[in-house]
Amino acid sequence: MYIPIQTVKDLALKEGFCSCGATKAEKMDISSFKDWLAKGYNASMSYLENYLDKRENPALLLEGTRSIFSFIMSYNDDSETSTHKFKIASYACRKDYHYTIKQKLNNIIIKLKDQYPDLQTKIFVDSAPVQERNWAIRCGLGWKGKNSLLVTKEFGNKVFIGEILANCTSDYAEETANACGNCNKCLTSCPNNAILPDGNINANLCISYQTIENKEEIPENINLRNYIYGCDICLNACIWNNRAKKTEVQDQEVKNLVCSMLDKIEKGEDFKSEFQKLRKLSPMDRIKYQKLLSNVELAKKQSLNTDL
Ligand code: SF4
Ligand code: SF4
Repeated sequence: MYIPIQTVKDLALKEGFCSCGATKAEKMDISSFKDWLAKGYNASMSYLENYLDKRENPALLLEGTRSIFSFIMSYNDDSETSTHKFKIASYACRKDYHYTIKQKLNNIIIKLKDQYPDLQTKIFVDSAPVQERNWAIRCGLGWKGKNSLLVTKEFGNKVFIGEILANCTSDYAEETANACGNCNKCLTSCPNNAILPDGNINANLCISYQTIENKEEIPENINLRNYIYGCDICLNACIWNNRAKKTEVQDQEVKNLVCSMLDKIEKGEDFKSEFQKLRKLSPMDRIKYQKLLSNVELAKKQSLNTDL
């Protein structure tokens, strides 16, 4: 069974995706990922060490897989919460992408199955041992920036990625050439030198890991730069991000809640009720209130020391 990529693209654009591409579902060389793990740069995220065979071979995720379709959706907008002193990564100031992207991919599959009833598929959105960025690169959607993220010329690096594995063939993309050139802006922007010269991240030093995944106390040498959930610093530094088209999808309800929570944090008021609502709507359900509270306390302490 062959499905033209244009058919998939048309459906993807109707669902609000910026772009999509296809590639042959071949084995992927994950030796650099294994090296990264061996050096302990995954910090306490030991789940990343599991199912390496599936990361390497997509056929183990869906029997009979012939193609991988990769989809990107921008979350790059102008209405960031950056006017507040304390900050939350912009991807988290939106509806939980795990659900929204999955739902949209599901809608695409339903429509494709009307035309191709024998189509077998599996959807992944940051939820399984899938090398998402690398597949997106193979699907011609962008390149690996020096901060390890997918960078696209048209939409920058604030993009959600999702995949459909399928038992059909399609029109396969050519990889996009890396356009970082001599730029080093993301590397030099990181306050903790978490970006390694090979374009990977040492999670131990990354604000995003420390404020979300680290269940222990954040080490004193980590500068949070007022971030209390995730970090946008190296994304905001990217030249391609700054030139990118902005998305019109706003998710205003989540943004309003984030703003009202940040207002309360700045005034020293209780913000538990806003956070509990955000845990239901946004990807912030990865942490509990106590963790956010300790992030806030540390960020406040550090900002007091800076202000002195
Ligand atoms: S997300 Fe923040 S802390 Fe992590 S590498 Fe980028 S700038 Fe550094
Ligand atoms: S900031 Fe520069 S080096 Fe970093 S990803 Fe963007 S273009 Fe590449």
